[in-house]
Amino acid sequence: MTMVAPVEIVLVYQSLLGIYGDRGNATVLAKRLQWRGYETTVTVVEPGDALPDTGQVYLLGGGEDAAQISAVDALRADGGLHRAVDRGAAVFAVCAGYQIIGYSFTVGERDEEIEGLGLLDVTTTRGPVRAVGEILTRWHGREGDDALLTGFENHGGYTTLGPSATPLARVEVGVGNAADGTEGAIDGSVIGTYPHGPVLARNPALADHVLQLALGEELAPLPRPEIDELRRQRLAAVLKRKG
Ligand code: GLN
Repeated sequence: MTMVAPVEIVLVYQSLLGIYGDRGNATVLAKRLQWRGYETTVTVVEPGDALPDTGQVYLLGGGEDAAQISAVDALRADGGLHRAVDRGAAVFAVCAGYQIIGYSFTVGERDEEIEGLGLLDVTTTRGPVRAVGEILTRWHGREGDDALLTGFENHGGYTTLGPSATPLARVEVGVGNAADGTEGAIDGSVIGTYPHGPVLARNPALADHVLQLALGEELAPLPRPEIDELRRQRLAAVLKRKG
């Protein structure tokens, strides 16, 4: 009998990038794999621990400005996220995590510019108003209900994409990247996006897309009526906001 190694999901720096509940993205990915018969393991890494070189998907979440600076310093010193991307692993980064994996971001009152990890061709600066509230976007290249992505955004940074990054989606309600009506960015197996929620619980097709990038294989559809119902409720809530 051949033993297949469990799919390793790496949850990066919850103590710094965990205040918005984005660790739920790890639970969602693990569950969706388990429901399909895969073995999974979730590795939680804190600053000071080395990032494993064995992960198939690395998850970063949202955080406060100061925590975000500590996280980028520790990740730069570690180097493991760059090695993961070079290996073709998937990176899914939310909000502060998204800003960190770009080329630079500014924080705080002084608009101090901090160098990012440069894994995604984006730069983030402070916007005139903080983006707070439900967000609805339309995923580029997708059709039907799966194309509608919902979440909750809460960020002061506005993000500009460079030529090597493609927007993930177009904003229908909310702010997203801000300047040009786009939301999030993708380059190969690296995805950055603003919504919390956790966003992969609200958008199972996006969760499966991350898994397909990580595994390099198509996944069979997974009908779950309770998730359809959650989606229906969240879409209704955000469309109510749109009025
Ligand atoms: N501190 C960042 C900002 O305000 C990120 C916030 C977050 O992760 N929700 O833009």
